[in-house]
Amino acid sequence: MEYAYDDQNIFAKILRGEIPNKTVYENDYALAFEDIAPQAPVHVLIIPKGAYVSLDHFARDASAEEQVGFMQAVAEVCQITDVKDGFRSIANTRTHGVQDVPHYHMHILGGRQLGRMLQ
Ligand code: IMP
Repeated sequence: MEYAYDDQNIFAKILRGEIPNKTVYENDYALAFEDIAPQAPVHVLIIPKGAYVSLDHFARDASAEEQVGFMQAVAEVCQITDVKDGFRSIANTRTHGVQDVPHYHMHILGGRQLGRMLQ
């Protein structure tokens, strides 16, 4: 599969500092910031700093260092935010997954009881 990255997507602009964001955590490989339209008391997006369009692109092509750095950011976000009672991570992907922004991002949702998604 070919992954074509559009560097004009909004998260690319956030990474370049062209659009402001409410940063929760940042390291060399990832940036975590508050979702602009939160669906729960905690709604954080974690994005890699590399140009990856989706979870499967990131999983296939990101280096081990990038992947570890990204997961370290996930761990930090889960420490910093109030998700001790649990959370949901989501990676919407392409059309069927209803992905709006074509830069891989993991949603972390928590801070309240969430509804069941899968039966
Ligand atoms: P998805 O691509 O369907 O997973 O959704 C993209 C998410 O990005 C949505 O939850 C939006 O509210 C969020 N979003 C879009 N633009 C911004 C922004 O400029 N800052 C923070 N979150 C954003």
